[in-house]
Amino acid sequence: MHTIYNFSAGPAMLPAVVLEQAQNELLNWRGTKMSVMEMSHRGKEYMDIIQTAESALRTLLNIPENYRVLFLQGGASLQFSMVPLNLSEDKSCIVDYIETGVWSSKAIKEAQKFATVNIVASNLTQDVKKYRFIPAKETWQFDSRAKYVHYTTNETIGGVEFSEIPKVLEGIPLVADMSSDILSRPIDVSQFGIIYAGAQKNIGPAGLTIVIIREDLVEHAKGNVPTMLDYKIHAKNASMYNTPPTYGIYIAGLVFQWLLSLGGLTSIEAINDHKAKILYDYLDQSDFYFNDIERSVRSRMNVPFWLKNDALSASFLKEAELAGLLQLKGHRDAGGMRASIYNAMPVEGVQTLVQFMDDFSRKNR
Ligand SMILES: *Cc1c(COP(=O)(O)O)cnc(C)c1O
Repeated sequence: MHTIYNFSAGPAMLPAVVLEQAQNELLNWRGTKMSVMEMSHRGKEYMDIIQTAESALRTLLNIPENYRVLFLQGGASLQFSMVPLNLSEDKSCIVDYIETGVWSSKAIKEAQKFATVNIVASNLTQDVKKYRFIPAKETWQFDSRAKYVHYTTNETIGGVEFSEIPKVLEGIPLVADMSSDILSRPIDVSQFGIIYAGAQKNIGPAGLTIVIIREDLVEHAKGNVPTMLDYKIHAKNASMYNTPPTYGIYIAGLVFQWLLSLGGLTSIEAINDHKAKILYDYLDQSDFYFNDIERSVRSRMNVPFWLKNDALSASFLKEAELAGLLQLKGHRDAGGMRASIYNAMPVEGVQTLVQFMDDFSRKNR
């Protein structure tokens, strides 16, 4: 098999060692003669798998004891409704949202169905630079009555990432969609009320959503919240109210072990910073490609870039694919290219990409 590098934004590549271990265990998990897919989610073997996964995640993120970890379904998109459904009593409740791109805009649209949204700040401006910066902190307008403040730590499509945790008003829970940069660096969980993430970017296979929720917020749902959308039901039942996405949780557990074996999140952060630097340094010295996102908020996970001569984009993509560099086409809203370089992307993948970009630019000037 010749080497390929998959730059997809999600579902994204997984570490080869994880896939190999899954392959070795596929038909017979540790002498049980059963695949993990075939196990009862309530059996002792599976209980061991889910508990080991949770404790590895707790170690990686240093999750305090007063936080619950939930293994849910429905993707990050379902959290767009679960958060307001659980944390606001009715439509008159005010909730704060920071708008920085396509994903936070979607979260806002959903929240508007259940609550009154105050947009704290937005980069959705009319000019071509929309979504390519984060509004200055001094301009943010929090509402002191807000039930929570929601933001998206990394905008997967726009390539805009917060480098620090926003400071919010005392006592108001901070809720973060971390779908595309969770586990990419250490983070102080105690600053958050809720963290959620779809798994298919930096955790494991699609179909699993991880929610980390402070205990005092678990019981907040009032009124007629559907059972499956109620955090307290999932917390009370240790994510086993119904059948959880068992295989996805198993693979996520293997990814957590892989991260621990590398030395945890400080180690992966150094690797991620190194990869992003290689790509941005190359882009910044180039007169053929560009990335015009404000430097201080450039994403380390999703790097959009454009060819100055857009007419060459189609042949760029075609030749990249022949060279084994896959899924570089940018999101349809952004155009151009996008290289997603999550945890599982090795440094060699980024080096190979930069080499290819350089060769392509020489051949086409
Ligand atoms: C991909 C993504 C989503 C949507 O995730 P689903 O699991 O497909 O619902 C939401 N937010 C962010 C930041 C994402 O990257």
